[in-house]
Amino acid sequence: MIDIDRPFLTLDPFDQNIRAGIEGSGVGTWDFEFSTRALRWSNTTRKLFGVAPDASIDFDLFLSLLDSDDRDRTTRAVEASINTGCNFDLQYRVLKHLDAGHWVRTLGAVVNGSDGKAARLSGIVINIDHQKRLEEALRIRERHFRSVLETIPDAMVVINEHGIIQFFSSAAERQFGYTAPEVIGRNVSLLMPEPDRSRHDDYITRYLATGERRIIGIGRIVTGMRKDGTTFPMYLTIGEMESEGRPYFTGFVRDLTEQQQTQARLQELQSELVHVSRLTAMGEMASALAHELNQPLSAISNYMKGSRRLLATSTDINAPKIEAALDRAAEQAIRAGDIIRRLRTFVARDDSEKRIESISKLLEEAGALGLTGAREQGVVLRFNLDPACDLVLADRVQIQQVLVNLFRNALESMTASTHRELIALNCRAADDMVEIVISDTGHGFSEEAYANLFQPFFTTKENGMGVGLSISRTIIESHGGRMWAEINQAGGATFHFTLPAATAKDIGDVAER
Ligand code: ADP
Repeated sequence: MIDIDRPFLTLDPFDQNIRAGIEGSGVGTWDFEFSTRALRWSNTTRKLFGVAPDASIDFDLFLSLLDSDDRDRTTRAVEASINTGCNFDLQYRVLKHLDAGHWVRTLGAVVNGSDGKAARLSGIVINIDHQKRLEEALRIRERHFRSVLETIPDAMVVINEHGIIQFFSSAAERQFGYTAPEVIGRNVSLLMPEPDRSRHDDYITRYLATGERRIIGIGRIVTGMRKDGTTFPMYLTIGEMESEGRPYFTGFVRDLTEQQQTQARLQELQSELVHVSRLTAMGEMASALAHELNQPLSAISNYMKGSRRLLATSTDINAPKIEAALDRAAEQAIRAGDIIRRLRTFVARDDSEKRIESISKLLEEAGALGLTGAREQGVVLRFNLDPACDLVLADRVQIQQVLVNLFRNALESMTASTHRELIALNCRAADDMVEIVISDTGHGFSEEAYANLFQPFFTTKENGMGVGLSISRTIIESHGGRMWAEINQAGGATFHFTLPAATAKDIGDVAER
């Protein structure tokens, strides 16, 4: 059955069969006559546009079924076909249809009249709703994919088997300084310095020939090159995929510049600290030695003087020689005393550099050195910092040394504790000082330990040196502060020390510089 309202032309049975087949397959047919502007639709077309089989139709009714943008587009396309004889192909959403938002595609071609002039536009309508929904789902997935790519800091670059860039994520644009259109279609070797640059094509060829993986799925640190020619360390992982029988490689790039800078900074901090620690430990020992040696040396010198007086009355023939030897010995004892005095003044010399420092920054840096592995040991770290008293006048490396020592002692004291918590806080103290408090939930102190904590060489540890706290107190006192310890409510240790707060004037001076 020819399911069309009126036959367009007189059809022979073969054509009628084809028409019926087309209609039955869900493809609608239509015809638009230019001279009369008469529009004819098959029943399937009517169904697709949501128009009743008996409703009368014309071009304006057709346009009214469309979105206003689509109406203009359609009118223009019809005119273009009339004027140029070009084919007609448009897709729209039929809004008036019961199933609102239903997508159709209309295709048509100009048919000439018997005079050989363009007389009508005839064609078909098909339902493309399913295809459109798939496209939309794909678009949504593509949007998700792009938003993920835009959020992750790693750059993503996709290349084909010839090393030609197919995709360049926005993180890649940021890392390499190229825009995607600048690099898509170019060889990925432009993102690397020599010697990789001239070898990269061979790397791919060798992999495709041998299947031997050197970086794919393994990951490696390599050097990348930005558009401005500067290079940077990057961690590259490569995944492989196949699309339509052709291999593609996806590279994920993590810029390691910052990580390496952090590591270098940590190493620098550590070596500064080790250097200063050694110097201070030496100073502390020298000072302790000087103190201890001074008394025996004065005693030696006094004994010498006494013996010299006793010898004055002696008639022994060797007496003058012994006297001279005693004089030399006394001179040497005095000289030794002088050396020690000079050593003490040298040690006491304060050549530290005091600047405005932020307590939170000092704690953060000292934490990176002294608290590594704390979390893994189950230690809860709490830094309750008051930004209102954050700035102090201090020698950064020396205060870090104090903090690292306090942190390490605290961690060591908590190894046997069930609850391990380290708290650091700062608060304002009297006389324009800032107090820093570090407390732990460790074993605390015995009475003897509490009395001797700050004495040089006092230690309760098997491998302890016992100089950490005495050095720390010397450092704090040389800053004009105080350092003391208490047993806290948890039974652990709380160490307090004070540092001069940076005044508004200090801060102003720095700002002016
Ligand atoms: P060392 O750590 O080499 O022993 P220190 O001068 O840093 O030297 O510490 C001296 C002693 O003070 C330690 O041996 C320990 O007995 C005690 N001490 C230090 N800090 C703590 C703490 N947080 N908890 C308990 N005892 C501590």
